[in-house]
Amino acid sequence: MERVDVTIIGGGPVGLFAAFYAGMRGMSVRIIDSLPELGGQLTALYPEKYVYDMPGFPGVLAKDLASALVQQGTQFGPETVLDVCAEALAQDAEGYTLTGANGRAYPTRTIVISAGAGAFSPTKIGVEREESYVGHGLSYGVKSKADFAGKDVLIIGGGDSAFDWALNLHPVAKKVSLVHRRDQFRAHEETIRDVQTLGVEFKLWKVVKELHGEGHIAGVTLEDTQTKETERVDCDAVVVNIGFKSSLGPIKEWGLNIEKNQIVVDHLCQTNLPGVFAVGDVCTFEGKLKLIATGVGEAVTAVCVAKTIIDPAAKLFPGHSSDMDQFGS
Ligand SMILES: Cc1cc2nc3c(=O)[nH]c(=O)nc-3n(C[C@H](O)[C@H](O)[C@H](O)COP(=O)(O)OP(=O)(O)OC[C@H]3O[C@@H](n4cnc5c(N)ncnc54)[C@H](O)[C@@H]3O)c2cc1C
Repeated sequence: MERVDVTIIGGGPVGLFAAFYAGMRGMSVRIIDSLPELGGQLTALYPEKYVYDMPGFPGVLAKDLASALVQQGTQFGPETVLDVCAEALAQDAEGYTLTGANGRAYPTRTIVISAGAGAFSPTKIGVEREESYVGHGLSYGVKSKADFAGKDVLIIGGGDSAFDWALNLHPVAKKVSLVHRRDQFRAHEETIRDVQTLGVEFKLWKVVKELHGEGHIAGVTLEDTQTKETERVDCDAVVVNIGFKSSLGPIKEWGLNIEKNQIVVDHLCQTNLPGVFAVGDVCTFEGKLKLIATGVGEAVTAVCVAKTIIDPAAKLFPGHSSDMDQFGS
């Protein structure tokens, strides 16, 4: 593979903005993400939720924000490596070589790690044949509300995501029921009230013990967590929202200074490894806020410092985009 100026590990909102900025500064860019799609948490965790704290957007759907960030972040043609986890890091004479889970080597001069909470995977219910139903009526989130149109949907969980999906799917689904192992919830009180007034059926003190259906979900067996009594409930779809496990995984082995699962950086977003930066949710420093608005600022700083490492004659300050030739100004 060609050695690029900067490799961005993680194509979430912060990594995408880093890719845009590096492209704008004339750097060659490679984005690596373990997910099959760009967008990070916006796309994977809450595509149908509105985000209200983006500058210039009074309210924007997370999936629309992700697609605008993808458009902006890929306009200078970065190489995009998807479905590949960055597993190993080795320093070499010209910078670093990353090795992907696919066994390929990715040489680079500098690195911006924007890996969020690490490669994440949904918590499973833990019942027999669960894997075989994934994509056949069982999902761990909602990619598109339209997939649930006219369906009898069971949502499993008692947190914000479970309640948000109950609220969002209710207008399109035939019926929405919410299954939770207790009678207390970890969602916002207002959302709980909204869901309760919609007529969503609550199945409380229940856990899923079995999944039924030939090739596609047709029902579940629920067990009462107190009495252990079971009941069979018919449904067309099960949406599991009982959390995500995330781990920095291989990144922890790269010799970086890590505190509480986050990479420690200085005021220039530099890690303890020369030419390696960390930005967005994955980094920590005094006063760190895990927000997109602050993460993209960190990305700008990291990219501009990386630029001066690659080209010592380059200025740290990028100039104003409104004056730049590449945008036709
Ligand atoms: C329900 C919910 C609502 C939210 N609402 C808001 C909001 O309203 N406003 C706001 O500012 N923030 C909000 N956030 C937080 C916001 O989503 C995060 O701050 C933001 O996504 C962080 O962006 P990031 O690019 O740093 O990381 P992420 O979005 O987490 O992206 C990291 C990417 O790195 C990839 N990755 C990780 N490890 C590797 C590896 N080793 N190799 C390759 N790829 C890897 C992951 O697959 C992922 O795609 C919300 C979060 C949640 C869960």
